[in-house]
Amino acid sequence: MKITEHIKTANGKTLFSFELLPPLKGQSMDGIYKTIDPLMEFKPPFIDVTSSREDLVYKEAQNGYLEKVTYRKRPGTVAVCAAIMHKYGVDTVPHLICGGFTKEETEYALIDLQFLGIDNVLALRGDARKTDPGFIPTKGGHSYAIELQQQIADMNKGIYLHDYEDTSYKTDFCIGIAAYPEKHFESPNLKTDFRHLHTKVKAGADFMVTQMFYDVNKYKEFVKLCRENDINIPIIPGLKPLTSKKQLVSLPKIFHIDIPENLSDAVHACKDDKEVREVGIEWMIQQCKDLIECGAPVLHFYTMGNAGPTKRIAEAIF
Ligand code: FAD
Repeated sequence: MKITEHIKTANGKTLFSFELLPPLKGQSMDGIYKTIDPLMEFKPPFIDVTSSREDLVYKEAQNGYLEKVTYRKRPGTVAVCAAIMHKYGVDTVPHLICGGFTKEETEYALIDLQFLGIDNVLALRGDARKTDPGFIPTKGGHSYAIELQQQIADMNKGIYLHDYEDTSYKTDFCIGIAAYPEKHFESPNLKTDFRHLHTKVKAGADFMVTQMFYDVNKYKEFVKLCRENDINIPIIPGLKPLTSKKQLVSLPKIFHIDIPENLSDAVHACKDDKEVREVGIEWMIQQCKDLIECGAPVLHFYTMGNAGPTKRIAEAIF
């Protein structure tokens, strides 16, 4: 079922969902199931599974020279989605990214998803490789999420990359996009970023999921901006409870977000990460209550493989 239908049938009730990373290459699905099992009691209608592009590593060759090797740490997004759907009977939302994939590979992934009965995708540009100074598109791939989104929208109209065969079958994907209430870090300002977001919505995006944030006012202002500009699709807030002191530095650095002074002061005052975890959970419980009050359609948690804090918050909220 499409995310938009889940939201519609919830009739104003806020839903619970979460995001997972595929296991590291060479590991089994057990870790994923360990994260999912404790959260199923909160009846998530869908679970997101992230995708990652290849990284470059330098390996010493026999002749002593360094050899450049490309390496994907967490392949398997489509298979992980299928396994979760099969085991738990919930919808899954695979993240599709531009980086690391040619348009043909993307088309084949979408055909796999359609065969599997997966109705939703989140169309993203994807992060840059760690060794690159910024995002470098893959040869034969897309440069921006909008191009990927258009490829999916084309398949929804029965338009494929090459028409050597009868490829008129129309897929019916519900397409999600990423949104940044505090702006995307590469954008010179919120207005420019918003203009690109507006284009993606007008090109047919069905829902958006936000970057994490810790100040509900940022979400409220962003929703207001969208609604004032005729953007009426669901805006799902992305949430990540703080669990350690070092995240005061790492989260703003990685995700380009602000941590409100009250929260950072409270975390600084903690004697250890056990206390930080409690502060993070309490903050997020309040944040969730505020989000429900302002009509957020879904509370979407970035679990990062750790179900514990999300479970505590869901127990207090749902
Ligand atoms: P885009 O929409 O392409 O935007 C990228 C930048 O370019 C922005 O600054 C935008 O303003 C600008 N821009 C957009 N269109 C144009 C245009 N036509 N011309 C010029 N500039 C333009 N990353 C992963 O690698 N894997 C994941 O699974 C993943 N999941 C995510 C889930 C969520 C909910 C979010 C919020 C992010 C996720 N990311 C993931 C990170 C995301 O891929 C990065 O933030 C990436 O840098 C931008 O992705 P985007 O889809 O917003 O890109």
